[in-house]
Amino acid sequence: TSAENRRLIASLIRDIPDFPQQGVGFKDITPLLGSAEGFRATVDELVAAAPPAIDVVVGMEARGFIVGAPVAVALGAGFVPVRKPGKLPAATYEVSYDLEYGSETLTIHTDAIKPGSRVLVVDDVLATGGTLAATAELIRRLGAELVHVAVVMELAFLEPHRRLAEAGLGETAITA
Ligand code: AMP
Repeated sequence: TSAENRRLIASLIRDIPDFPQQGVGFKDITPLLGSAEGFRATVDELVAAAPPAIDVVVGMEARGFIVGAPVAVALGAGFVPVRKPGKLPAATYEVSYDLEYGSETLTIHTDAIKPGSRVLVVDDVLATGGTLAATAELIRRLGAELVHVAVVMELAFLEPHRRLAEAGLGETAITA
């Protein structure tokens, strides 16, 4: 059942204190990915969260690739990677956003998604929401429709929904 899946998933996510820097509690999903039952349960839950008629799954580098790709196959959808700068070979759109220290840029191929496509975004952890807000902006630039976001885990104490609302994504449905 879904409740059993969720218990299994929670039991296989490891907390690593002070990684990659002091004060950050890192949610390590490698035990989850390394477990056949855990990975299956993860993909099943993300697939179950998806609304009908998804054309494309977008996953963010790097763990969004790992969880997003099997979800795309299961949904009969395509997979589109959002990457760090300098990785995608053809023409790209870029969006930069602020991190606690410094900034980050994400890129997508300008021809990656047909305008009007229904898009599901998949990632491992929703933390501050900055990565998701930037990804949503890239999808918007392509003229596609972000219809749902499915993440393995949300860090509610970082208040991602506040940042997402500020980015105009207050109405976007998110499953964690
Ligand atoms: P954010 O932009 O703050 O929502 O961060 C989301 C991205 O950073 C996701 O792609 C996560 O993989 C990663 N991330 C941020 N914080 C954590 C954390 N505490 N544990 C694991 N991954 C994290």
